[in-house]
Amino acid sequence: MCRNEAAIWVPGANCLVETENSDILAVALRKIYQWSRCQWKMEYPLTDNSAIEKAAVRKAFESEGHVKQHLLCTVHSERTLRRRFRSQETHIAYEHMRHAIRVLSETECINLCNLAITAVSTESDRRYIQQEWLETRQSWAMFARQHNQLLLQATSSNACEAWHGRLKLGSGLRKGDSATHGIYGCVRTVHDCAHDVDNNILAAQMDERTRHTTLTKTYPSLKRFPFAVQKTIALEEKKVAIRLEQDMPLPVRELSNGLFVCYCLFSRRYQLPCQHIFHMDHAEPRARDTLGHEILETGLLTPQMWGIYEERLNGGGFEMYEKQPGEEILVPTTIVRPSDNKTLRVLRLGEINERIRSTFYRLEEQDPESSSQFVDAINNLITTIICLPTTTGNLPSLSTPLFPLVATPSPVLFTVLGQSHSAPPIPDISSIGIPVPSRTLSPLSAPSG
Ligand SMILES: [Zn+2]
Repeated sequence: MCRNEAAIWVPGANCLVETENSDILAVALRKIYQWSRCQWKMEYPLTDNSAIEKAAVRKAFESEGHVKQHLLCTVHSERTLRRRFRSQETHIAYEHMRHAIRVLSETECINLCNLAITAVSTESDRRYIQQEWLETRQSWAMFARQHNQLLLQATSSNACEAWHGRLKLGSGLRKGDSATHGIYGCVRTVHDCAHDVDNNILAAQMDERTRHTTLTKTYPSLKRFPFAVQKTIALEEKKVAIRLEQDMPLPVRELSNGLFVCYCLFSRRYQLPCQHIFHMDHAEPRARDTLGHEILETGLLTPQMWGIYEERLNGGGFEMYEKQPGEEILVPTTIVRPSDNKTLRVLRLGEINERIRSTFYRLEEQDPESSSQFVDAINNLITTIICLPTTTGNLPSLSTPLFPLVATPSPVLFTVLGQSHSAPPIPDISSIGIPVPSRTLSPLSAPSG
């Protein structure tokens, strides 16, 4: 997705695949890269926590060296946290982690992760926060995006999700449905939806020439700004009414290079006057004419001040933010990163997981019987390569276990495996001399469903 100067998200390229896997996506990304004559240098790919997409970016651009950091969508990150910590006992950990996403300093983020670790009671939760969150904080935490306004403006993959939603709606599909039409139908849908986007762009271009926000009556200098920027500023200015209503204290901000410097999110995102600056401007006494009427723009936000903002925006609307080069962030030496090889292995594992899940849901939609057979087949395959060892270390007929799971004998778990799944055949435990405590086995040997 690309964003134009009027802040409209425009689909730049689509990739239609029958089965999603990282190799196909990597080829698609390379193709788009070639179409752009190698001008499209993806520095900060932003995806949901999909192992397939992460692996695809890595495969496509690893040799190019322009990818600085793979970022994760904040909406999906929060959703993942909510799913994991949904119980009452883990609510405090969830709140700490949610806060950790938004804080501005790395130290604060680490502290909150550590607080979350102490707030959970199970070892698996502690390990989960440590490995999946604390060690990967550069990818999901906002502190690591403060150096680049564009990263602060687009923190989620919502634009892509909205485009996908539009395509699905255009095909008459609901969430979870599979498309039944062919390639021609898909192309027609993409074409029709792209046509709608083109219309939106035309309407925005017309607005640029003909419309102004009502805020321009108070600040005539604002008329010189592109309409999309005027709308963004006007939305922020409206918040002053809420501040006054709630009797919030007058903000104190410093003046720097002729501008008031505020560190709120809006200021960092857009470098435009925020609600705090507007609040200060409202409180400033105005000059009056001979008839006692207030003279416009005699507060803090004078025509000169607007001129500086305009200059920074460079007349290009939102395009200015795309052009601004990002700064390098210094990564503290204390960061423990997983080794590259480990990252690759974890990505591969995640990709396999995703492929199994997506195949399962596809089959489930088509024929629940075949999805059940699929699960059985996967289970058989896994059982042949992962197996729980015995004291003697040789369980004969479960084939030879390649990857024993635990070091201690666990006849109870072994029985669970045997009872739940029919193949491969489970040996008679008593015949291979494993001491089986009957007290432990009895409730499990009768499957309860
Ligand atoms: Zn502010």
